[in-house]
Parts: sequence; C-alpha cells; structure tokens
Amino acid sequence: MPLVSVHELLLKADQKGYAVGAFNANNMEIVQAIAEAAELEKSPVIMQASQGAISYAGLEYITQMVTIAARQASVPIALHLDHGTDFDQVVRCIRSGFTSVMYDGSKLPLEENIAVTKQVLAISRPIGVSVEAELGKIGGTEDNVHVDEREALFTDPEEARYFVEQTGVDSLAIAIGTAHGRYQGEPKLDFARLEKIRNLVNIPLVLHGSSGVPDEAKRRAIQLGIRKVNIDTNIREAFVGEMRRIMEEKPDEIDPRKILKPARQATVEIIRKKIRLFGSSGQG
Ligand SMILES: [Zn+2]
Repeated sequence: MPLVSVHELLLKADQKGYAVGAFNANNMEIVQAIAEAAELEKSPVIMQASQGAISYAGLEYITQMVTIAARQASVPIALHLDHGTDFDQVVRCIRSGFTSVMYDGSKLPLEENIAVTKQVLAISRPIGVSVEAELGKIGGTEDNVHVDEREALFTDPEEARYFVEQTGVDSLAIAIGTAHGRYQGEPKLDFARLEKIRNLVNIPLVLHGSSGVPDEAKRRAIQLGIRKVNIDTNIREAFVGEMRRIMEEKPDEIDPRKILKPARQATVEIIRKKIRLFGSSGQG
C-alpha cells in the first residue's frame, strides 16, 4: 500500500491504547528488517530517517527504499523525518515524499519554536503530512544533536499545554528522563510529569531515547499516553552485534551478503520484540 501518515496511525493507537514503534532506517537491510517485522507481527510501523541517515544514504534513496517497502507490505507504513532542525530540510523531505516530519525546535526559545512549528504546519497540513514537535531537551546524542545529560531539561506540563494550543501540532515529543544513545545507569522516568502533560495535552505523545528504558517502564509510559516510541540504538546494537559476531567467527568471509543477511535477521527479531511490547501486533 502507499505510505500512510503518522497522524492516522497515532490516532488509532490513541483510541486503542497502544504505541506505534518508530524505527530508524539507515540502510536497505534495516528498511527490509523493519518491514518484515511489521509484516510478521501484522503491525503498523513508522520508519524514520534522521538528518544523519539522510546525509549517509541520500534523501532519494531513503525515500524510495521506504516507499518500495510500503508498497510491498500489507500493513501500513509511514515515513518520518526524525529531528529535523532545519526548516529547509523539512521542506526537502516533504517534497521527496515523507508522510510525516518532526520539526525539532527544542533548542530555540519557546516563542521561536512555536513560530517555526506553525510555519512547518502551514506547509504540511494542506497536503496531509503530519508534524511532530519537541518541547524540553532529551539527553544524549542523536547524530549531530548533543545535549549534556546534566543540562537536559524536562518538559514543563503548562508549557506543553500552551505550545499545543498555540501551534495545533499533531504530536509532541516530551522529555521525561530518557536519553538518546547508550545509557550510563538505568534511566528513571518521571511518570508523574507524563500524567500531568497527558491531562493538559490532548494529542499523541512521543518518547525519544527509548532504547535503554526497561520494558516495564516503557509499558507504563504507554499506559499513561505515549503513542509513538522511537527506537534506534537497539537496532544498531542488534545489527552491528551480529555483523561483528559473524566476522569474528569467519574472519576470511568477504561476501557482504553472508554478513549482512544474518545482521538483517537479528534486526527483524529485535523489532518484533519491540512491536509486541508496544502492543501494536495485530493492529495493521
Ligand atoms: Zn530523538
């Protein structure tokens, strides 16, 4: 089927009380792994590309690979820009065929974040492209975006209410104690803050930096209103971990397919686990 918008996936998730996995797609094997996992779980899925993935693979390659995966799939697949920090980049992705974009103005002063998010909405909404915004700062490193853990600022619930009211954005990424990349120690999520935000904001909420969050905490966050969970680091670990294992086991192997095929399979398995945890199996 053709690519769908993230908004329509999240609305259904909100009605039924589960979350949709948003998995970072960096190359063909990972795109195929996400699609296969979604198909096997009969689950909707979001494939997302960061600015780093786009500069690595090329915008047209990413768009076309995900479009082909969606066309071949019997479950709904959306293509989303992860952490677009540049208005022009957002426009290029929409023009290329993305069905959803994140405009990340979390580093800007609030009013500026609101103003640019509104500009993004003005060009997205008429053509059915959904928009995710971010308030608060999520710790860790996501490609080029680095926020010192100590300086990471949690989302203020009142500010979230004001932001959503002012912009009318489709979904909101919030900072409640998660971090991008690998964790040092176990993250403690601020569930009370999540509940407060959820009571004030009537749109689907998004959890970034979720790879290191224990399953139980993810489940609780979904119960409290998280509808999109981003997973990148777990995919990297599974994919590269399996490549490394094969290369150590067979140091003379020079056929990339013999290394990448098992890596792709390991990625399918980890994504299936996440889909089951998020509760979206059978919802495609
Ligand atoms: Zn993120």
